[in-house]
Amino acid sequence: MTVPSTSHSAKPPSRPSLVPKKAEKPQLPSVPLHLVDKRDNDIQYIRGPLLGEGGFARCYYVTCCTSQKAFAAKAVPKIGLRSKKAKDKLLSEIKLHRELIHENIVKFIRAFEDDNFVYIILELCENKTCVELLKEKKRLSEPEAKMFFPQILGALQCMHDARIIHRDLKLGNLFIAKDGEIKIGDFGLATKVNDKGERKKTICGTPNYIAPEILFNNDVGHSYEVDIWSLGVILYTMLIGKPPFQTKHIKEIYEKIKNTDYTFPDDCPISAEAKDLIEKLLSQNPKDRPTIMQILEHPFMRMRERIAALTDITNTTKCKEN
Ligand code: ADP
Repeated sequence: MTVPSTSHSAKPPSRPSLVPKKAEKPQLPSVPLHLVDKRDNDIQYIRGPLLGEGGFARCYYVTCCTSQKAFAAKAVPKIGLRSKKAKDKLLSEIKLHRELIHENIVKFIRAFEDDNFVYIILELCENKTCVELLKEKKRLSEPEAKMFFPQILGALQCMHDARIIHRDLKLGNLFIAKDGEIKIGDFGLATKVNDKGERKKTICGTPNYIAPEILFNNDVGHSYEVDIWSLGVILYTMLIGKPPFQTKHIKEIYEKIKNTDYTFPDDCPISAEAKDLIEKLLSQNPKDRPTIMQILEHPFMRMRERIAALTDITNTTKCKEN
C-alpha cells in the first residue's frame, strides 16, 4: 500500500458491522523502536511506550529524532489491510484528517509506511480522552461541560465547513491535551459530502451514539445532523455519567434510540437549560436538531462559570500527570 504524501482519491469508508465482533486478533509483528519515513530519511522517530489500542491500531508515544518533540504514532498493521475495503478506509481517514486544521482537532502530522505497518503521526494528547476523565470524575459539572462544548462545536464547524461528517463523535474520540483543551480525533468513519449535498447510506457508528436515521431510515440516507445527535449523547453522558440509551443488549439500545426512550434520573438533577438543549439535540427528526450556531446561542451555553471550570479541569488533568 502506498501512503500518499499529498492527496489521493480514496473512496468513503465502507460499511462496518454495527455489532462489535470479538474477532481473534492475529499474531501481529512488533512495532520497531525506530520509525523511518523511507521517502525522507531525515524523518525519523524513536518509539516509546504504548499509549492505547483501538480496533485497528496500536498507538505509541514517539519522539522526533530531529526536533526532539513528542508525538503519538498510530501503527496500523498491514495484515489488516489486505482487502480493498480496509485499504480504502484507512486512506480515507488519512485524506480527510490531513485536510482538517483547527485548534480543537488532533493535528495530523504525516503518514508513512514500512514493510509491516502504516504509521500516522499525530499531535500527542497526553491526558487521554473524556472517557478517562469521566471515569475519574463520575460526571462533569455543568460549568465543565460548558467549557468543553464550545471547543467541540468549533471543531465540528470546521469539519462541516469542509463538508466532512465525523460520524463517530463520542467521549472516546474527544482527546484532552496537556492544557486541558479538547481535541477531536479518529476520522476512521468520517466521510465527505459532495457539493450536490448527497445523502450517505453507509451504516456506521458506535451503538450508544448512533443517530436513528442511520439505523431506521437508511433509504433516505443521513448527513451532518448525525453529528448533532451524537453531541446530544455526549452532553447527556458528560452531565449524567452514563449514555442515555445504555442497556446490556445492542438491539435494546437501538430500540431505545428509535423511540428516543431516555430519562433524566432524579438522583443527578441538571438544569432546565441543559435538559432543553439535550432534548433538542436528540430530536428524532434530523431537521428538528439545532445547527451549530443555534447550539452556541442556546441559554445553556452562557459564558459565565466557564473560566472557573477551565481551572478545575486543568488541575484535574495535572493531578493525573503527577
Ligand atoms: P482505532 O482507530 O484503531 O480505534 P484510535 O484512534 O481510537 O484507534 O486510537 C486508539 C487509542 O490510542 C486511543 O484510545 C488512545 O488511547 C490512543 N491515542 C490515539 N490517538 C492519540 C493521540 N493523538 N494522543 C494520545 N493517545 C492517542
